[in-house]
Amino acid sequence: MINVQNITKVFTTKSGPLTAVNHVNFTIDEGEIFGIIGYSGAGKSTLIRMFNGLETPTEGSLTIADKDITNIRGKELRLARREIGMIFQHFNLLWSRTVRGNISFPLEIAGVPKALREKRVENLIKLVGLEGREDAYPSQLSGGQKQRVGIARALANNPKVLLCDEATSALDPQTTDAILDLLVDINRKLGLTIILITHEMHVIRKICHRVAVMDSGKIVEIAPVLDIFRHPKEEITKRFIGQVT
Ligand code: ATP
Ligand code: MG
Repeated sequence: MINVQNITKVFTTKSGPLTAVNHVNFTIDEGEIFGIIGYSGAGKSTLIRMFNGLETPTEGSLTIADKDITNIRGKELRLARREIGMIFQHFNLLWSRTVRGNISFPLEIAGVPKALREKRVENLIKLVGLEGREDAYPSQLSGGQKQRVGIARALANNPKVLLCDEATSALDPQTTDAILDLLVDINRKLGLTIILITHEMHVIRKICHRVAVMDSGKIVEIAPVLDIFRHPKEEITKRFIGQVT
């Protein structure tokens, strides 16, 4: 489904070149929930931002559903992006639009006719459990509800992949669990492939099938979640496991 080969991202900074992602290789299966864990600055966001063209790799290649997205631009990139939804820690909602307006937005951009759009938005609102809140503005919603809007919006164009960048980091533990349950539900119902970035091992343990541990731009360990908990190899992995009681 997803094939990452030798991906590298070097930023040019005032103090010289900075390698944020350093020759990373892995594959992700269709329908998998794949976690990426690492401390702040490890390169997690930079890595997944290359999945939807928010960053372009300095080196290496990236294919999603057999389509090479490494160096695409313009219209081709816009079309490829519809296959890849993304949700964020701070939700990135449009504050001047209601729940319905936020979810409808990517469909408007894609030129979906009004009747079809409205039907699709109603279905998405049901899927994420926001019935009755359609006309609320983001400022009137709880954090968990805002992330539900973020998820519905990310799913609007029926993507194959959902990228989650610290999607539960701003939420309390109970709300985090509810959002993770929703992601599992969506993964099962829609067969969606999910890539989930976090620095919290309990999030990985709760829903991921496999996990990659990232440190200083490299993947230092990658394994099924059960195996990682039973036989962690790297010191950093042991430290992450130590977070979970
Ligand atoms: P966090 O957990 O804090 O979100 P992260 O693992 O997502 O961290 P990245 O945001 O990918 O880490 O950053 C990796 C490195 O790349 C950091 O040293 C960061 O300062 C640097 N970096 C990220 N984006 C840029 C940019 N646009 N220009 C220059 N350097 C950048
Ligand atoms: Mg990040």
